[in-house]
Amino acid sequence: MNYETVIGLEVHAQLTTRTKIFCGCSTEFGRTPNSQTCPVCLGLPGALPVLNRKAVEFAIRTGLATNCRIAPRSIFARKNYFYPDLPKGYQISQYELPVCEHGWLDIDLGDGQSKRIGITRAHMEEDAGKLIHGETPETAGSSLVDLNRACTPLLEIVSEPDMRSADEAIAYLKKLHQIVVYLGVCDGNLEEGSFRCDANVSVRPFGQKEFGTRAELKNINSFRFIRQAIEYEVERQIDLIESGGKVIQETRLFDSGTGMTRSMRGKEEAHDYRYFPDPDLVPLVISPAWIEEVRATLPELPDAKRHRFVEELGLPAYDAEVLAADRNLADYFDACVTLAKDAKSCANWVMGEVLRKLKETDTEVVAAPVTPELLSGLLARIADNTISGKIAKTVFEQMWLSGETADQIIQAQGLKQVTDTGAIEGLVDQVIAAHPEQVAEYLSGKDKLIGFFVGKVMQASQGKANPGMVNQLLKKKLQG
Ligand SMILES: [Zn+2]
Repeated sequence: MNYETVIGLEVHAQLTTRTKIFCGCSTEFGRTPNSQTCPVCLGLPGALPVLNRKAVEFAIRTGLATNCRIAPRSIFARKNYFYPDLPKGYQISQYELPVCEHGWLDIDLGDGQSKRIGITRAHMEEDAGKLIHGETPETAGSSLVDLNRACTPLLEIVSEPDMRSADEAIAYLKKLHQIVVYLGVCDGNLEEGSFRCDANVSVRPFGQKEFGTRAELKNINSFRFIRQAIEYEVERQIDLIESGGKVIQETRLFDSGTGMTRSMRGKEEAHDYRYFPDPDLVPLVISPAWIEEVRATLPELPDAKRHRFVEELGLPAYDAEVLAADRNLADYFDACVTLAKDAKSCANWVMGEVLRKLKETDTEVVAAPVTPELLSGLLARIADNTISGKIAKTVFEQMWLSGETADQIIQAQGLKQVTDTGAIEGLVDQVIAAHPEQVAEYLSGKDKLIGFFVGKVMQASQGKANPGMVNQLLKKKLQG
């Protein structure tokens, strides 16, 4: 039988507010355990939570960028369960009335096809603390509790079960990831857990309307592992059904060592958590004016950027995709175009030399020693034929190391391209005179040898002759 895969995703994006969602403690990562705590995030009796305005603003930003309706009034609820990293015995979350609902994202399926993935809701909640399991001899066999992360703001973004393959799931996640990072509301670090994904996966025979029983996959911290986990899980469920078994609703952990998922616990239902409105927090009321204020500060998003790069700057779709993928890279490219005008040559240089060098030296684009100003200075010298594209690459290397301008390097090293016809003619004559055999072959119809002659002349000029002129003069002289 043929099966169809059904996937829905829940993403927890940690919001990059300076302080926690219900208290003033710092959210800085990696500090001494329990040094960033107070009575509120420790869950001490009588301590009252106060909502962080910035976290709400970030939720609105994300909601607007994912085409959600922002609720004029939403409610915080207590999700009750016990775990040692949750001192209050409940997590403050949103249940019945979340801050964002009914959104969508369009994902690219390649070859110009796109698909709309629904976003059911996005709600704000607090994170739990962290357990550290006996890492030193003194603590072997016991677990330690670090509450620095407790009460850190999260936005949980829940998709509709609209995805039908691991490819679609990855496309959706990458798009959402790109958006929250563009918005500056989340640092997007999967390994540190600031962008976490749980996948609800089920299969059903093709043509069947009802969904199959789903498993919730957890503990997946890279895009590659998400694909592996989904693909493994789909196989497992199909094998199970084919061999007469039944998929049960459960939570499964992905093990990146084995590439397999294993059962962790039976999946609880929402009613198990005994959600009820938190009496310590008033309803969250968001005015239309506030929404408009936030909307006005939204940056140009990846889709709009890609569209502009293609429609207004005339870039190929592939270039637009690469350049718009990262907001800082796109800003760098935009700055170059503003200065150098020629968008295609800026794109070639940014995607070629600049990206290569950033990777090679493990540098962030904002810290690139060759700034857009310096790069456009180099491009200007190629455009006005002062140097060839080839020499420009060595100049670029030196600019990267020294931070000097292209003009300074060209001047100091005498790299100015030879465009004087007389000088080039002299070299062309020398090369022709030195290779009588090749000249004869060329004249007998072996046109390809022109490359050989161009190479020899360029070599003789130490790469400084203008290649176009060399080509032209050679053809003229060889015929003559
Ligand atoms: Zn606190």
